[in-house]
Parts: sequence; structure tokens; C-alpha cells
Amino acid sequence: MFDKILIANRGEIALRILRAAKELGIQTVAVHSTVDRDAMHVKLADESVCIGPPAARDSYLNIPALLAACEITGAEAIHPGYGFLSENARFAEILADHNIAFIGPKAEHIRIMGDKIEAKRTAKRLGIPCVPGSEGGVTDDDEAMRIAKDIGFPVLVKAAAGGGGRGMKVARTAADLSTALSTARTEAKAAFGDDAVYLEKYLEKPRHIEIQVLGDGRGNAIHLGERDCSLQRRHQKVLEESPSPALNDEQRGRIGEIVAQAMRDMSYSGAGTVEFLYEDGEFYFIEMNTRIQVEHPVTEMITGIDLVVEQIKIAAGSPLTLTQADVNFSGHAIECRVNAEHPSTFRPSPGKVTYFHPPGGLGVRVDSAVYQGYTIPPNYDSLVGKLIVHGRTRNEAMMRLRRSLDEFIVDGIETTIPLFRTLVRNTDVQNGAYDIHWLEKFLATGGMGEG
Ligand code: ADP
Repeated sequence: MFDKILIANRGEIALRILRAAKELGIQTVAVHSTVDRDAMHVKLADESVCIGPPAARDSYLNIPALLAACEITGAEAIHPGYGFLSENARFAEILADHNIAFIGPKAEHIRIMGDKIEAKRTAKRLGIPCVPGSEGGVTDDDEAMRIAKDIGFPVLVKAAAGGGGRGMKVARTAADLSTALSTARTEAKAAFGDDAVYLEKYLEKPRHIEIQVLGDGRGNAIHLGERDCSLQRRHQKVLEESPSPALNDEQRGRIGEIVAQAMRDMSYSGAGTVEFLYEDGEFYFIEMNTRIQVEHPVTEMITGIDLVVEQIKIAAGSPLTLTQADVNFSGHAIECRVNAEHPSTFRPSPGKVTYFHPPGGLGVRVDSAVYQGYTIPPNYDSLVGKLIVHGRTRNEAMMRLRRSLDEFIVDGIETTIPLFRTLVRNTDVQNGAYDIHWLEKFLATGGMGEG
């Protein structure tokens, strides 16, 4: 096992990793930009190193500074968290060249899954069901038209290098296709420096269901069930739950085993998530995330398995000790992403938190790096914390979420807590009767009142 690891991240996920490391008896090194000097992950780590100015490219994405921080502190491994360098294959290779362990999958797997066209090709080869679409990238508009007519409109133009829902455009009819192609290419070029796009059948009312996996890189892999992340705004997840209200045990076991088998065939190492759209009883692969995800706690709450501890153990070279039979699902968990944003206009709201009172009690978990008096800087993602509840049944979890949200006080900034207070009182949400478009429609039809 490692003696000391460096956490190349900030915010709640840096704290989350720090907690896992401490429970394993591992020393922790925090890194921070100049604006994050007073951040909670810096205060709680055993050591900390300032790695640069506020802009992420000069600090949290600054590979030479991270290498120097390892050198100075003697850290043997880096946990990248999510975002920043977590899905950067080159970073994983550079660490290997410097004899620093990367707490994540093999570089080749990050690279394959980072290219969505390549990822889809690989998924198909491994027997994972995919959304009908183009075999690879489409460069020629006439060819795109032939493929689109073949799969049937509406179609979705997606960026090969996509992420965060960018570079995605729907073409409802043949007349929209050329505009969708050129807008998606332009957006993809601007966001990712790569204008390769591909086509997919646009699903009208799917749910987003993803499977959590763990592999040890030696051909052992298990699945930890699914998360339903269908409540989305601008293709970004807002609330996640597990199990999915749409699946039964048989469906869960079947898709879980297909994915676990694919991971065994790849010799996948570490934690990963295989994402699907689910419509009319069918699963369609959309992408794989080769990292720990924001919503991982809902899986932890129903399985009792610490995913970050497992990541660290795997990166340190231990084989998976968990078998599929060790994974038992108990009860229901729901997570709300609390963002420093106005609850109906979603305008970012950084600033000083003048009062902070998180909820507590049985089955309530708050993963947050915020404290009273802390100033949220404007430079990074607006996620400031996650409220996760667990109950024996979905209904118990819902009622627990409702009372936890009512207890949660964050003053000084705007947060999305009021949005969740409204959502938990909505009948469709209570019944789990939503697809990936539900929240957008709810907001567009004035669900939150005047913005
Ligand atoms: P990104 O990497 O940009 O997040 P994904 O491929 O994971 O892109 O898709 C993000 C979201 O976009 C999905 O959760 C879903 O809401 C929507 N989406 C993606 N593919 C399709 C599709 N073929 N049909 C309908 N919606 C889709």
C-alpha cells in the first residue's frame, strides 16, 4: 500500500479522497491554487503545496507543478478526482515515466474511452448494446444524409471529443441536418480543438442509466448496479438515484453482467462507469467514464462499498477482493448536486458563505468542502456540495431528502437547494416518472415560478 498520496483536485472531491486515504492510514498531500489557500481540503490534508495562480490551466492542470509537488513531498501516487486531469491519458503516462502511480485506469483505456467514436466501436466489439448510428466519424454531408435517412430522423450530431454535453445538435428533419453538422463541428472545434463528429439516432424519451464497475486490471471485474441520472439540465446531471425506479432485478443483473464481462475482457483497472440511454426496455451505450464520478455516493450508500478506497487499493496493485456475490444492494439512495447558482436562472453565485448549516440524522450524508466564512471563488465549477440520503425504500429516501433539504441552510450565496425543495414535492419526481427531458420541460413551463 502507498504511504503517501497527492490529491490533484479541489472542492468536495478532494475532501472525499482525503477521507478514504485517512481511513487507509495513508498520508495526504493537498495541492491548491493561490485562490484556494483557505480551502477545506488544504486545511485537512497532512501537507499542502501551492501549485500556481487561480486559472486551472496554470494550477490544477499544471503537470510540471504536480510532478514537482510529488518530488518535494515524496508522494507515491496521484488521485486525480473527476474533471481536471482525471481523463488525460498523457498525464497517466507521464506519471508512469516518473514512477508515480496514477489512481485510475490504464492510459490506453482512458484514451480509447476519451474518443467517443473509438469507445463506441470498442463497446460494440465487447458485446455492449449501442445506439444505432454512423460506424465512425462523418466528414461528408452527403454521406451524413445517407446515414441519417438510414437510421431515421430525428438524429443527433455528436462530437467525438465530446464532454459536458457540448458539441451536440439535434436534426429533426433532413432540412436541419447540414446546419446541425456545421454547428456541432464549430462547437466541437472551439471546445475540444477537434471537429470530428458522428451521428446517432436521437432517442425521444430515454432515461439515463449508468453501470458502476470495478476492475483490477488482471481480468477480474464486478458491477455495483446502476444509477439513474435522468434528471438533467443542458445534458448535465442534477439529481441521481439508485436503484433506478425503471429497472427490476432481472434487468439490472443482465445489463450489469454484460458490462462486467466487457470489463473482464478488456482487463479494465480501477473504477469506471458505463453510461446508457434506456428506452422501451432496451439499453443503448453512449459513453464510458474512466474515473470516479460526482454521483458515486449513491452506489456507496446502497452497497456499503467505499469506491475510492477500492480505487486506491487497485492502483497499489492489489487484486479485487470483492466478488459479485459480495455486492448486495440495500435500500434506496438519492443525491442532489448543490451548485452555487441561482435556483431558477442558474446564474453562478460565487462569494462568501456567511452561514452554513448542513442537515444531519440517520441516512444523511453531506459531501461538501464549504464552511461558514468560506469564500467560493468564481474560477471553478459551481458544484459546492452534494446531499445524499439513504432510506430502506424509495419513499423513505424521498421523505428523508425532503426534510434534509428543509434543514439545509447556506446563506450569503444563491444555491440550487430551493430547486430541489420544489422537485421533491413534485408528483412525477416522487413517482420516478421522468426521462432525460423532464427537467428542461418543467423549467421551461415555469415549474420554478418567475426566474
Ligand atoms: P457528454 O460526454 O457531452 O456528457 P453523453 O454522450 O454522455 O455526452 O451524453 C450526455 C447526455 O446527452 C445524455 O445523458 C443524454 O441526456 C443526451 N444524449 C446523448 N446521446 C443521446 C441520444 N442518442 N439521444 C438522445 N439524447 C442523447
